[in-house]
Amino acid sequence: MSNIPGAVFKCKNDPNWTMEFISDGVKQLTGYEVNELLYNNVLSYQKLVHPDDRARLWEEVQGATNTGTYLVEYRIITKEGKIKWVWEQGRLVNNGGFSGSLEGVIIDITERKDFEEALKKSESELKKTNAELEAYIYKASHDLRGPLASIIGLTMVAEMEIKEDQTLQFIKLIRNRTERLNDTLTNLLDLAKIKQKVLEPEHIIAESLVNEIINNLANKSGVSDIEFHKNIPFKEFYYDPFILTCILHNLIENSIDFKQSADTPRIFISMSNEADGIRIDIEDNGIGIGDDIRDKIFTMFYRGHDKSTGSGLGLYIVKTSVDKVGGTIAVKSEPNKGSRFSIFLPCIDINQSETIYL
Ligand code: ADP
Repeated sequence: MSNIPGAVFKCKNDPNWTMEFISDGVKQLTGYEVNELLYNNVLSYQKLVHPDDRARLWEEVQGATNTGTYLVEYRIITKEGKIKWVWEQGRLVNNGGFSGSLEGVIIDITERKDFEEALKKSESELKKTNAELEAYIYKASHDLRGPLASIIGLTMVAEMEIKEDQTLQFIKLIRNRTERLNDTLTNLLDLAKIKQKVLEPEHIIAESLVNEIINNLANKSGVSDIEFHKNIPFKEFYYDPFILTCILHNLIENSIDFKQSADTPRIFISMSNEADGIRIDIEDNGIGIGDDIRDKIFTMFYRGHDKSTGSGLGLYIVKTSVDKVGGTIAVKSEPNKGSRFSIFLPCIDINQSETIYL
């Protein structure tokens, strides 16, 4: 026992915890001699317990009468006035009550508690730094979009005015690259919004939402020859529109971007309701995703194909949105045949109530 940072004891089950026996380790643990504590000679063990923990210790030990054993963590104040955390495990003998006794062991766990405290502190500091970083990304992306919109506007004017072919080509290139930069900033803003957002379910008409997203993508090159097939048997429901839009927009956009030229490009969009949420499937007959890159496609800034002109943020946004609501995402894909992204989004639980209505 002398090697253990603690002591074994037998005491009365009374409010003083009157010690009938306590091992030598108590000196190292509390600074008091065995004799000082035995039968409350100089002071009772109860006086060693931190005042804020006394009532809880009493309640937890008395609560153990049913099982006979207890385990409790509390603070003590040593002879030098130092606060230590201890772990006490014991059992009631003689059926408890004031006439009964307790026997058990008290171990010093101050180091573990300090470590837990330090861990909690660094976790909260990390959270704070992350929040600051997200706010910074949001602000920077937001502020950069203004000048970019001006450049895009100016290049459009220049395209109308300039007659000389080569200069016109350069201007078009500048516009194209600026638009891509603008898309990346829009994606970064979306990401910051998803991370910070409080989920707000709104009334959604399923088919209108899907049509709106397809219309917003109508200016993409190569979209005109795509056949869209929709299977949306349920009409309306309540969900967070921003989260849903982020998921649908990015998945449908990818199906457009990664179509195959050989076959008639088709995109199947289905949304159905289940007892506890919404299932979404977006399927295409595009170029497919090889096994070699399957694990990487949800990574930030990852682009798996030279056909990609995007920022590599699309699927990261999808995954972040799905995670935000505690949903799941699965991918099935075969190169040169197509891909299917299957998503399940659970009901958003606000005030403990279901929020999806049919
Ligand atoms: P981006 O579209 O900007 O390249 P994403 O994060 O949306 O970035 O997608 C990452 C990569 O996953 C893409 O570059 C592509 O290789 C692959 N991918 C995603 N969706 C599809 C799809 N429907 N068909 C084929 N490949 C896809």
